[in-house]
Amino acid sequence: MSRPGRLSRPGRRSSPREWTNWAGLVRARPSRVLVPHTEAALIREVRAALGAGERIRAVGSGHSFTGIAVAPEVQVDLRSMDGLIDVDPHSRRVRLRAGTPLWRIPGLLEPFGLAMENLGDIDRQTIAGAVSTGTHGTGLAYGSVSSQVVGMRLVTGTGEVLDVDDTAPELLDGLRVGLGAFGIITEVTLQCVEAFDLHIVERLEDFDDVVAGWPERIRAEDHVEFYWFGHSEKVLTKTTRRLEPGRRARTRRSQSRRLIEDEVLGNLGLAATCRIGRLLPGTVPRLNRLCTAVWGGRDEVSASHEIFAASRRVRFTETEQSMPLEETAGVMAALRDLFRVEGWASMFPLEIRCAAADSAWLSTSHGRESLYVAAHQPAGEEHREYFAAVSEVLAGFGARPHWGKLHTLDAEAMRRLYPRFDDAVRLRDRIDPGRAFANPYLDRVLGA
Ligand SMILES: Cc1cc2nc3c(=O)[nH]c(=O)nc-3n(C[C@H](O)[C@H](O)[C@H](O)COP(=O)(O)OP(=O)(O)OC[C@H]3O[C@@H](n4cnc5c(N)ncnc54)[C@H](O)[C@@H]3O)c2cc1C
Repeated sequence: MSRPGRLSRPGRRSSPREWTNWAGLVRARPSRVLVPHTEAALIREVRAALGAGERIRAVGSGHSFTGIAVAPEVQVDLRSMDGLIDVDPHSRRVRLRAGTPLWRIPGLLEPFGLAMENLGDIDRQTIAGAVSTGTHGTGLAYGSVSSQVVGMRLVTGTGEVLDVDDTAPELLDGLRVGLGAFGIITEVTLQCVEAFDLHIVERLEDFDDVVAGWPERIRAEDHVEFYWFGHSEKVLTKTTRRLEPGRRARTRRSQSRRLIEDEVLGNLGLAATCRIGRLLPGTVPRLNRLCTAVWGGRDEVSASHEIFAASRRVRFTETEQSMPLEETAGVMAALRDLFRVEGWASMFPLEIRCAAADSAWLSTSHGRESLYVAAHQPAGEEHREYFAAVSEVLAGFGARPHWGKLHTLDAEAMRRLYPRFDDAVRLRDRIDPGRAFANPYLDRVLGA
């Protein structure tokens, strides 16, 4: 039996077993697995693999839904290379080993009174894995995790160790959302901020009101998102305000309330309704409305990382696309038609977020403030037709798919969507001329 994103216990090398991603959709059987403990060992091993003409690929926590992390030959598992290397308290910059999981970072930063500026929905990813696919949260004044990167160190396809920081902004922009295509990252330097608390309010609101007020609301509030079952007139909004650093008026939910809201109503409730929906597909729209009715009411102040990240115990598959922000009204109207006119239904709500424009060449927010729409299906359920229908609607609005979430686009389509695509290919030609880091997914989205 294989565990998601895991192969074996740390050691210098481990024998190859089947690797699967979190959603259980992607499998790989690398010819060998390296689990280096030190950067020196990693560099040595990578150079040896390059010398032997082997293809080599780093894996994070396996939380990408696509085959982006698949290692066709040598897999590098960096989970033994985690932790803090150093902190500059004046600039608030912190250097982390590439395999550090996001959930460890708050504890590492706490003694220095620092925090990450923004995060996505979960904190199970590694820092290098999250950065490499452009993992993002929500908030129009905030970019993705990769936009917090001010420095990286990586071993390239020529065996060189490349140190890049924001004194070379072009190169950093080329490498930041790197899809694992440019080398094995050994260190990431993040620009952090003073530790802060967040105040989250979750409410049930009318879909029409939320969409109409969205442009003003996302500029007035720090972090806004909403969840929407296409068959419901209501949506669950999450509005999160950043509190002045040092302000301590926490109203953390009790353990029992967390258990009820997150586990019973969230993870377990979702699992139960997914089972009913699977047995009785005709009930899905009614179940959607029922789920919507029990949502909302959360009003909590806590440390930023506790509010940003949630636990996701129900396995699912996902596609997510980013569109220019100004397309919001058109996107929402087209999606509403997809559900209410064409009759599509899913047991999972759509998740709608936004993010600042980003200068990273392959960031889904490159050069534009962005609206993000994510669609999900329970793991094991047919997702292709539903995701294709959602993607077809969004493609009409210039959608760029998340690199780590399911989509069918190829390099030609990406070239049209990303103005710096050819610069990224040229950079790849320069630092990985032999395509040592290639895999079938990269062949498709970047070209062979
Ligand atoms: C439940 C769930 C919730 C999610 N929520 C969000 C969300 O809110 N927002 C969002 O944007 N995404 C989200 N994602 C997607 C996820 O954040 C990304 O797919 C992320 O890249 C996964 O990180 P990972 O550590 O698991 O990396 P993997 O999936 O293992 O790898 C991702 C990429 O990083 C590369 N990589 C990893 N380590 C290195 C290294 N050291 N050097 C070079 N390349 C490396 C891999 O080769 C691969 O190309 C979610 C995924 C799941 C399963």
